[in-house]
Amino acid sequence: MNATMSIHGFPTFTSHANRHIILYGVIKMAIQRTFSIIKPDATKRNLTGAIVAKFENAGLRVIAQKKIHLTKAQAGVFYEVHKERPFYDELCEYMSSAPIVAQVLEGENAISLNREIMGATNPAEAAEGTIRKEFALSLGENSVHGSDGPDTAALEISYFFSGLEIVS
Ligand code: ADP
Ligand code: MG
Repeated sequence: MNATMSIHGFPTFTSHANRHIILYGVIKMAIQRTFSIIKPDATKRNLTGAIVAKFENAGLRVIAQKKIHLTKAQAGVFYEVHKERPFYDELCEYMSSAPIVAQVLEGENAISLNREIMGATNPAEAAEGTIRKEFALSLGENSVHGSDGPDTAALEISYFFSGLEIVS
């Protein structure tokens, strides 16, 4: 295989198939999608815009968004991973207590970047400038949800949005 450096510093291969693989790796792999929820405590206090501004200022783009009021059963399915935890019932009750704003966020390393912007689960442990430090009321009412990995991001996005509703 013949490789030379391109003006961008990436190797250029004479084989068309290989060039495609390299370009796919460089361009596509760094851009991720993650799933986000602005939780009832935040929508009730009219903080949707302030929270979206945090995402946008950090380089994430909102590529899907809807405001909905979950039933307790729908919240239960979403948080099924926590069903054995003592706070599960309280969590489902809270998530269905008022409307939420569900979103798909896109950007470089969107999953971990979003977790950084959100801050630690417990607002008492969240770093300065994070959403949870600034806005969360308690460990339970902590203003935002964000996917914790690529598999959960894909699953959570598909639970809330159809392909037609995501506009990249
Ligand atoms: P994160 O939202 O940071 O990913 P978890 O997945 O561990 O955190 O928990 C899901 C949600 O459940 C939290 O965001 C919070 O709303 C709630 N929660 C977590 N731990 C507790 C707890 N000990 N008591 C009450 N609610 C909790
Ligand atoms: Mg979680």
